[in-house]
Amino acid sequence: MSRRRPSSRRVLLGVRSGIIDAYGDYEDVLRDIRRFTSLAHGSDVLTKALLGNYALLDRGRPLEDLRNSIFRTALSRNSRCPLCERAQVCALDHFLPKNHFPEYSILADNLVPVCERCNRLKGDECDRVGGLLMFHAYFDEFPDIEILFAEIDVDSTVSIRYSLRHSDGIDNFTFERVEKQYKVLGLFDFYQMEAVAELTDQIDLYDETYGSCGDSGLQSILSALARGAERKGVNHWKAALYRALSRNVDFCSGGYRNLLATPLN
Ligand SMILES: [Zn+2]
Repeated sequence: MSRRRPSSRRVLLGVRSGIIDAYGDYEDVLRDIRRFTSLAHGSDVLTKALLGNYALLDRGRPLEDLRNSIFRTALSRNSRCPLCERAQVCALDHFLPKNHFPEYSILADNLVPVCERCNRLKGDECDRVGGLLMFHAYFDEFPDIEILFAEIDVDSTVSIRYSLRHSDGIDNFTFERVEKQYKVLGLFDFYQMEAVAELTDQIDLYDETYGSCGDSGLQSILSALARGAERKGVNHWKAALYRALSRNVDFCSGGYRNLLATPLN
């Protein structure tokens, strides 16, 4: 274990009160990123010293417990990634990227457990000019008004396409943030692939239901699946998927079999 170089330590002690103030201002920064000037702005030495703090969370280092407790808390609630709602969490994302906001590199509020894919795609994304941030798992509620839709087309194959539609019940700024999140994380394509895989796995269930109860039986099953998925949020990708499928006459009257001919993209 290497000790912090005295120069970094001196630099950090010199800005100690500034860092404490920055921690207190974190939520204000989230509200309007355009007005924020980083404590380390223009100082390579300070930036490097602050970034060096992050290594303190590594195994065997003084802040290892902080990392462990963040993951423990996440896993005790829901081990799914809060950004895609699909994969397991395995990495810590700096909501405000540490390269732009090094003073928050070890602030627990800024460290969000996410999956590997979302961590990679989000990267340093942070639109300071537009003031548009993605949704913060600790501070923001994703809209609970239906804005995510799945379009189902049953032909020789079954194609699924996701889209967002504005609703009167949601303000423009919030909707733009949702759009940004979907774009940065490539969620339309990701959910399309996940949906095809999910439905293909269920063909036997659809066959049995359709064989014994016909299209109304299959429709009921799909509606029940939609209601179940909506417990995770009205805009959960499975909720949008099953809502659309339950309303699709072609799919419910035997068109589901064409799933086997559905290409993955
Ligand atoms: Zn994810």
